[in-house]
Amino acid sequence: MKISNLVRPNILSMKPYSSARDEFDIVGNVILLDANENPFDSEWNRYPDPNQKALKAEISTLKNIDVNQIFLGNGSDEAVDLVLRVFCEPGIDNAIVPDPTYGMYEVAATIQNTEIRKVPLTSDFQLDPDKMLASVDEFTKLIFLCNPNNPTGNLLDQNAIEEIIEKFKGIVIIDEAYIDFAGSESYITKLDKYDSVIVLQTFSKVWGLAGLRIGAAYASEEIIHLLNKVKPPYNLNVFTQQKVTEIIQSNTGQLSQFIEFVNYEKTRIAMALSKSEVVIKVFPSDSNFLLVRFKDHVKVFETLLSQNLIVRDRSMAMHCNGCLRISIGTYEENELLINTINKL
Ligand SMILES: *Cc1c(COP(=O)(O)O)cnc(C)c1O
Repeated sequence: MKISNLVRPNILSMKPYSSARDEFDIVGNVILLDANENPFDSEWNRYPDPNQKALKAEISTLKNIDVNQIFLGNGSDEAVDLVLRVFCEPGIDNAIVPDPTYGMYEVAATIQNTEIRKVPLTSDFQLDPDKMLASVDEFTKLIFLCNPNNPTGNLLDQNAIEEIIEKFKGIVIIDEAYIDFAGSESYITKLDKYDSVIVLQTFSKVWGLAGLRIGAAYASEEIIHLLNKVKPPYNLNVFTQQKVTEIIQSNTGQLSQFIEFVNYEKTRIAMALSKSEVVIKVFPSDSNFLLVRFKDHVKVFETLLSQNLIVRDRSMAMHCNGCLRISIGTYEENELLINTINKL
């Protein structure tokens, strides 16, 4: 596919901002009088590396992908925003999302004045590729797929995803915020085959770094170059770059332990809740949360609230009537959740 034909012409032709740290890399003992910084060392007086080289080197090893195929953003939400800005001409182009899915795609698209076309998932939360593709027209630039999906928690059917990638003549974004809980293979491994795919992952969930704000997009060098061209120059601060680099260097064992814990607790909660009189259905989950349909979700929500337990009301979402979305907490938090619901 010729990616440049999909890009907004003004983005293709623009000259990106060149920051002081783009023009001169810090090598050896140089004196920096080029960025109007405060010269007195306070740990934070210097601008961060705009290209995040040290951190990308770690992520490259971690994910087994070339550094030039990595974009890092202030959360993966930043990547969603930039993808829309690169490809969608405001007021003209459109993007397609399944319904229900993660709400940020629509919000970011609306800010960019890009029409979002919502195509309902089947009642068991699966993709209908024919319906998705039937909504495509000549102005459709993007299809967002969230795998595993939020708020439903399930993995999407692999054949359906590949049919969409193969037939759609635009960019397919696969948001893998929860992929590590699913134990299924990431589409990162298929980027060589699919040059129109952008994989999004985040450090906010399995890595436990939501507060540091860091997410990644993985794609062809050409697409990554476009995202880097439009990003704010210093989008990842010094602290986040240093901290995440250290954490990746020291942290792989704990990650799989946490995944095991979440999946154990998820099964335990699901089994307990399925026996409750007030529960209609606990949906199968490949993520770190459960979508649960209750007979009276308002009453359940308020009872949980009275115990200071906050869950997410997703009852207004497509096919989600009566549903609350419940994140897996610590053992004690999960016990309180189960006991509170069992008392109803
Ligand atoms: C939580 C979540 C994210 C994470 O966004 P960040 O900006 O990286 O914190 C992305 N996509 C989905 C579907 C999510 O649920």
